[in-house]
Amino acid sequence: MEQTNEINEVIEIPVAERRFVNGRNLKFKKKIILLSPLLILFFYFLGLSFKNNLKVNTSKISDSDPRILGHLPYEESLKEELVFIEPHIWVHKDMAQTLLRMRQDAMNEGVNIVFLSGYRSIKLQEEIFYSLKSVRNQNALERARVSAPPGYSEHSTGFAIDFGDGNYRETDFEVEFENTDAFRWLKMNAAKYHFKLSFNKNNKYIDYEPWHWRYEGSIEALKIFETANREFSNANK
Ligand SMILES: [Zn+2]
Repeated sequence: MEQTNEINEVIEIPVAERRFVNGRNLKFKKKIILLSPLLILFFYFLGLSFKNNLKVNTSKISDSDPRILGHLPYEESLKEELVFIEPHIWVHKDMAQTLLRMRQDAMNEGVNIVFLSGYRSIKLQEEIFYSLKSVRNQNALERARVSAPPGYSEHSTGFAIDFGDGNYRETDFEVEFENTDAFRWLKMNAAKYHFKLSFNKNNKYIDYEPWHWRYEGSIEALKIFETANREFSNANK
């Protein structure tokens, strides 16, 4: 019996202690109730700043760079918008007349401009990109400095054209094209016909291509190249 009493006494102690704890809990609860407006405000601002952080993150995702290996995406021109101007050369109908007039005007001044490549389908661009990559034993990044990946070429729009000099065919698709009469003439006159060099020496992603020009003489063309122009003007600020 004595043993049981001892056990009962032992049990009573934690009960007393529990009452004491409950008393403290009550005080704590009172404090919480008094402080609750402050706590609500605290969590409100915490939530607000978290929400703002989320907003910053999502806007970063939506503004993410659309480029692949430095090239902007371009859609393929519709077949009915393309016109044939000579064997292997199709261009957008909006630029065909101006392009031919420009070549004729250069010819009248003794400069022999030739067309090397106009519209290229995404399928053809794919063949060029992947076949040249393997022929030249280049990886995609190296190849992208000199050729656009399929779906990312200005040539697919029908508004891009590669020029050569008929008297210096060895400079076709070479940086040395910049030393020809054709290039000098284009540099002096192409803007009058709304042609613009696409990849100049300041482009940080793509190698300088003195032969590759794009037409910006129609609203449709301007819309297509708006991102490229905006990025370039930002880069030069
Ligand atoms: Zn080109």
